[in-house]
Amino acid sequence: MTSVRLPQPLAHLHSLPPYVPGRPPTAPVGVTPYKLSSNENPYPPLPGVLEAAERALATMNRYPDMGSVALYRALADRLGVVPEQLSVGTGSSAVLFQLLSAYCGPGDEVVMPWRSFEAYPIAITVPGATPVPVPLTADARHDLAAMAAAVTERTKVVLLCTPNNPTGPALSATEVEEFLDAVPERVLVVVDEAYLEFVRAEDPVDGIALVGRRRNVAVVRTFSKAYGLAGLRVGYLASTPEIAGAVRLVALPFGVSSVAQAAAVASLEAEDALRERVDTLVAERDRLVAGLAERGWRVPDAQGNFVWFGVGERTAEIAAAAEAVGLSVRAFAGEGVRVTVGEPEANARLLEVLGRLAP
Ligand SMILES: *Cc1c(COP(=O)(O)O)cnc(C)c1O
Repeated sequence: MTSVRLPQPLAHLHSLPPYVPGRPPTAPVGVTPYKLSSNENPYPPLPGVLEAAERALATMNRYPDMGSVALYRALADRLGVVPEQLSVGTGSSAVLFQLLSAYCGPGDEVVMPWRSFEAYPIAITVPGATPVPVPLTADARHDLAAMAAAVTERTKVVLLCTPNNPTGPALSATEVEEFLDAVPERVLVVVDEAYLEFVRAEDPVDGIALVGRRRNVAVVRTFSKAYGLAGLRVGYLASTPEIAGAVRLVALPFGVSSVAQAAAVASLEAEDALRERVDTLVAERDRLVAGLAERGWRVPDAQGNFVWFGVGERTAEIAAAAEAVGLSVRAFAGEGVRVTVGEPEANARLLEVLGRLAP
């Protein structure tokens, strides 16, 4: 009896690249390890968030509010949209999976920058669509002209990632407008703003403003990075009511837990503390980038909470050097190393170890 007689998953799933999670750190004895491999926030929850989450935890015998009413209300108020324009999910990764399942199937193409967020090819391939990766420019930015040229009759969705994970540069509002003018309106353009809060570049993209002006744009955002709720899994999409409605249709019922809903609402109420923390992380990032430059290490424009070393064949060497001093980093074999901006001590240690290596 051969295994062909046993249940078989869809054939196209065999081409799925596995998602490689950031590794937990290991450190020499007596050295504090730091996890700089998943772009997490080093801070504890914002003021009031733990208390709100604990109150929700006490109701764990009940299903969460399936309509996430309080969270939709809070987000709509914050963003100046109506709740019908939003779709919340278990992290913006889940929202992206939902969106791609709602808009793509076998034979459809999705244009994406590459290297970019590693969940993209997985989320595109699951519903049977084909990823069309468009290489980044030499300075690790989206090649928007090449991306527009890659759009065909089969293209259903284009993904933009600003700032781009793992390389760092952000798109400008002007270049995104020009790109949207060049792409037919039947193509859904998704702007992934996972690191929006960290952007300090000129002419920043305002995804919500774009959504207000265009009928084929969706923005996805997350509470995992600046807000520091990565472990609770909550993110959202903002778009037209039609697009948000389609994305809601394919959501798993009761996905976002009551704890996650409560923590997200409380986090939105702690805006001042959020801004302070983000400013501190941005200052730390800029200090790190300046320190790297002093040591001869030039990195692409870092607009997220991470820096990218496009070191190619030296990837394993650089990653091993960091791991040896207790810093876990994210290595992309043969391409480069992404390092999250962490606690000041972690960043200082990175500077020290790279200072000992030739760029
Ligand atoms: C981290 C990240 C996300 C979302 O993460 P979730 O935890 O699923 O919300 C989305 N896009 C990019 C580019 C990211 O780096």
